[in-house]
Amino acid sequence: MFAELWLHERLLKALAELEFSEPTEVQKQAIPVALQGRDLRVTAQTGSGKTAAFVLPILHHLLNQEESAHATRALIIVPTRELARQITDEIERFARFTFIKATMLIGGEGFREQAAELRRVPEIIVATPGRLLEHIEAASFPAKEVRWLVLDEADRMLDLGFADAMQSIIKACELREQTLLFSATTGGRVLREITQSLLHEPVHLML
Ligand code: AMP
Repeated sequence: MFAELWLHERLLKALAELEFSEPTEVQKQAIPVALQGRDLRVTAQTGSGKTAAFVLPILHHLLNQEESAHATRALIIVPTRELARQITDEIERFARFTFIKATMLIGGEGFREQAAELRRVPEIIVATPGRLLEHIEAASFPAKEVRWLVLDEADRMLDLGFADAMQSIIKACELREQTLLFSATTGGRVLREITQSLLHEPVHLML
């Protein structure tokens, strides 16, 4: 039961409406750890329900923060535009009973329109590394506001040659409080190094 995971009632209402009754294994294990604020490294395949495993705790954190803390607090970095779209859709479905808005920053779409969207201060950004870095460099994305950082399909981001972009983004988000790293495989040396430098005493879940 999702109710046993102590998620915010507006999220439980959305889950009920979406007919999500039982959490998947990765959700059962990852959500309580993420709600505590611990860093998390999860090795899990697509199809396991991993998206909800990081989206629900982030929505919960956002719903519980002080109103005065309003800013773009959550950043989700993904390897591809397609994945960014899927995650943004999932966020919108879970956030339907909340004020929370998500904006996508992906290549192939207008930079100026995205900068204008950012000025409206969406709570969550879902981005591919190249375009996000351009916004950080143009100072249109205030990376220092980020409290919760997610790297999804981190192994694939490295395979696609985003190692340097990932490092620069992580460095720019220096005031983050929690980092969640998801990958489909345990990955190689570079992923291990990034994990070690990025995560603070993480809980490692292998599913
Ligand atoms: P993912 O692994 O995050 O790509 O999720 C795979 C699919 O399963 C997506 O369509 C989700 O909306 C769906 N899903 C995730 N968790 C649950 C759940 N607890 N109950 C029903 N469907 C779910």
